[in-house]
Amino acid sequence: MKAFISSRIPEKWLNKVAEKFEIDHHDWETAGAMLEREEVLARMKDCNLLVTESDMIDAEMLDSSPDLFVIVDFRGTVVNVDIEAATRNGIVIINTPGRNADAVADLAVAYMIMVARNVLQAIQTLKSGKWAKYGKRHAYEIHQGYDMPGKVVGLLGLGYIGRLVAKRLAGFGVKLIGYDPYISAEIAESVGVELVEFDAVFKESDFVSLHLPMNDSTRNMIGERELKLMKSSAYLINTSRAGVMEEEVLIRCLHEKWIAGAAIDVYHEEPVGADYPLLNIPNVICTPHICGASHDVVKHMAEIGITGLFDFLNGEETLTIINPEAIGKAREKMAQKLGRDAG
Ligand code: NAD
Repeated sequence: MKAFISSRIPEKWLNKVAEKFEIDHHDWETAGAMLEREEVLARMKDCNLLVTESDMIDAEMLDSSPDLFVIVDFRGTVVNVDIEAATRNGIVIINTPGRNADAVADLAVAYMIMVARNVLQAIQTLKSGKWAKYGKRHAYEIHQGYDMPGKVVGLLGLGYIGRLVAKRLAGFGVKLIGYDPYISAEIAESVGVELVEFDAVFKESDFVSLHLPMNDSTRNMIGERELKLMKSSAYLINTSRAGVMEEEVLIRCLHEKWIAGAAIDVYHEEPVGADYPLLNIPNVICTPHICGASHDVVKHMAEIGITGLFDFLNGEETLTIINPEAIGKAREKMAQKLGRDAG
């Protein structure tokens, strides 16, 4: 069988794929560039497996690849492959949910501490020379913040990332509450979280951390009503998607100090320029959508994706297939290919 891999992949997992496929590989990172659409098409159209990460795979490309029966998309959410066209063509798509969950969870916790302890402002005091100018006590007094033990952390969304944030916080002596209507109290308890009503997360928490997916039910879920339920001493952390919040309201909330501060990694328009209104509010940490950007993500996405691929090839249940309705036809295409090779 033939495979075209157009993504980064550690050698260990490349060798694993080579056990079953003859591989054509373009690593966009070491090559310094992604391929043009026409070259991706030329290299995938005779293949049985496509492993991709960032290429846009449209319906015409899938219609032109008759032997393709499986795509491994190294993405948490498949936004780069035409899912309907893949399903119609009998191509299963395997994704890599949670590939950067550790990366995001690490920074969500770091941001809680950074906002509560005024770390960013303290760095600015140091760099501006104000520490030397006004004396040792000055920096100590103006940057005093709050410890984590005894505080309440409210998690909205308890999927891959929300649960990892909870696990990390287990050692911090905080009380963990959360809202996620799609998981059981037992699952929440297994990571130390007590499920509460939606409003309670805002009313009771010292830190509200958002780990929601972006969809019609979560769009603009947090606006003036929710922000006004929060304590004036509380902090908001959004490392999920900007669309779950009404950004205009958040900007007003932070300027008018309805809450103590925020850490934001995601924006309604990306990339944002230096004059973007959220960037210039003193009690806010802003980062350029980098929470998922760790070197370890490449290892995680390969492990999750290639494990899913081999589960599928071995006829085992594959929970990471996002279009299970394509499984029957994809298996037929695979059997035909293996039959042709054997014959
Ligand atoms: P996930 O799908 O594993 O978890 C989402 C959770 O939200 C699920 O448990 C689901 O039941 C819950 N949920 C859905 N609708 C809800 C609602 N209306 N109210 C409360 N809970 C609801 O997703 P994840 O991997 O944990 O990712 C969480 C978010 O983080 C996503 O928006 C993802 O796009 C984002 N993310 C951001 C970065 C970054 O770089 N900043 C990187 C990776 C992921």
